[in-house]
Amino acid sequence: MRSRSKPEYQLKIARERIQILFDEAEHAEDPKLAKRYIELARKIGMRYNVRIPRDLKRKYCRHCGAFLRYGANARHSVRKGVVTIKCFSCQSEMHYPYGK
Ligand SMILES: [Zn+2]
Repeated sequence: MRSRSKPEYQLKIARERIQILFDEAEHAEDPKLAKRYIELARKIGMRYNVRIPRDLKRKYCRHCGAFLRYGANARHSVRKGVVTIKCFSCQSEMHYPYGK
């Protein structure tokens, strides 16, 4: 597979770019723009076969790709060791084990 032959320095750049795009999304005032940054970050991840870090994964909706702002377009709750994140854009819920 082509993606497996990427040299390490390219993977490093890809990871940095993903981080930068998430930072941009966090500061973008327009939700559409934020969503666009997330899309780009995910595309880079796919192209370079780089995983999106877990802490960043919780910042966007897995279903519609919206950047999640708790209290604005998403709700975050913890119950019985499970974190539930509800996206208001597409109304879907995501569950993560707490503290992992
Ligand atoms: Zn969503």
